[in-house]
Amino acid sequence: MPTLTRIFNFSAGPAMLPLPVLEQAQRDLVSLPGVGMSVMEISHRSKTFENLLDTAIADIRALAGVPSHYRILMLQGGATLQFSMVPMNLLAPGTTADYVDTGSWADKAIKEARKVGAVNVVGSTKADGYTRIPAAQELTLTPGAAYVHITSNNTIEGTEWKAPPEVGPAPLVVDASSDIFSGPIDVGRFGLIYAGAQKNLGPSGVTLVIIREDLVGRAPASVPIMLDYKIHADNNSLYNTPNTFGVYILGLTMTWLRSQGGLEGIARINQRKAGTLYAEIDRTGFYRGTARKDSRSLMNVTFRLRDEPLEALFEKEATAAGLDGLKGHRSVGGMRASIYNAFPEEGVDALVQFMREFERRRG
Ligand SMILES: *Cc1c(COP(=O)(O)O)cnc(C)c1O
Repeated sequence: MPTLTRIFNFSAGPAMLPLPVLEQAQRDLVSLPGVGMSVMEISHRSKTFENLLDTAIADIRALAGVPSHYRILMLQGGATLQFSMVPMNLLAPGTTADYVDTGSWADKAIKEARKVGAVNVVGSTKADGYTRIPAAQELTLTPGAAYVHITSNNTIEGTEWKAPPEVGPAPLVVDASSDIFSGPIDVGRFGLIYAGAQKNLGPSGVTLVIIREDLVGRAPASVPIMLDYKIHADNNSLYNTPNTFGVYILGLTMTWLRSQGGLEGIARINQRKAGTLYAEIDRTGFYRGTARKDSRSLMNVTFRLRDEPLEALFEKEATAAGLDGLKGHRSVGGMRASIYNAFPEEGVDALVQFMREFERRRG
């Protein structure tokens, strides 16, 4: 397809999808083989769609080793709606939810939970500009907490938990929007995992929720039906019309992920990609990583130029060279290279090449 040149897209989300996924969607867009209709035109209650949904869920279960006492849901409203749904379902009156404040998304989750009930911020790295993940001994957990909420990867600040914290008997809830399935995950450590799909799973408009069965059915009767996990669990995420096209693309992306060697395979690739980029950032001091080394994200690589006024030029020339979306989030500035699962290794090599060339000319 010579006229459809694709550039390297470092966008933080929605982000790059695997090319084979886009190509298959394009081939099957007008008519699904054997169906004669587009996936967007068929009933969500048809056998065809139920098969697509069930296959996607089965692939997720196999890829991540999701135990049978967990339910896998495909919801709408993004990760942001989960900021509300989690406390509306799990934060019963008279109980307290613990939140770890590691970045702007964690802060937003905290603000929504406070509208629902009692929240205890049990650790925060805000005073350090969110440049690191707190150590286990910095967390002062509430005995008997309804749950403990963490953000596994801080998309804006470029930090990532290397392992989930030990939180005792309280269910651990994780916003994994920006690093879900970037490597193996021990689902049994969590009570609830949620992620907007548009970073590592597929297009926007689908939210993956993996919830332990004993946490389903706890919402008080006053909770609107669409915000109750039980209605979605009882109806296999088909209580109302789901984002059928989004689920279809997510399913294709899971098939692609299997072809990469599953979560172990993709972890090796992600280590290599991030390793190459951080090595270049650390090479001379012309560039500088903004996250503390032990907290660096494999998904969102944040960095600055030693000479900060050069950053605008860096970004402009990078864009002209086909390296798009490198401008850091407006709240932190600098650069951010988002290199999720689907971001190709050649794109990282191209960025490193560009960084060296830029340093040679401007250093
Ligand atoms: C992108 C992101 C969100 C917001 O996701 P939406 O699907 O747009 O609501 C929340 N948390 C994290 C960690 C994110 O990266």
